[in-house]
Amino acid sequence: MMAVAFKPIIYEDGKGIFHLYPGLCKGCGLCIQKCPVNTIGWSDTLGVFGTPTVEPGHGKPCTACKNCQTVCPDCAILIVPIKDRKNLKES
Ligand code: SF4
Ligand code: SF4
Repeated sequence: MMAVAFKPIIYEDGKGIFHLYPGLCKGCGLCIQKCPVNTIGWSDTLGVFGTPTVEPGHGKPCTACKNCQTVCPDCAILIVPIKDRKNLKES
């Protein structure tokens, strides 16, 4: 059986390493609404349905609160606090 790989786009913003999986993002905008510092905005990268995906860097710095990761209905965001960077596996 073939494995399907989802590669993230990785951004650093404030205290967070923001992983966005375009192959999962449907462009619903829920994460934009729920970010307490309004750092998430629309990106030029298209997602699984040809709609814009999201990126940080549009407001105040990310606090790594993980709200966006929690509310995303499609698990398209992974937040790793920069202080935990050493726990990331090399890929
Ligand atoms: S982790 Fe929190 S502050 Fe950072 S982008 Fe997500 S919702 Fe916004
Ligand atoms: S909540 Fe998830 S699916 Fe919706 S725009 Fe944000 S990352 Fe994409």
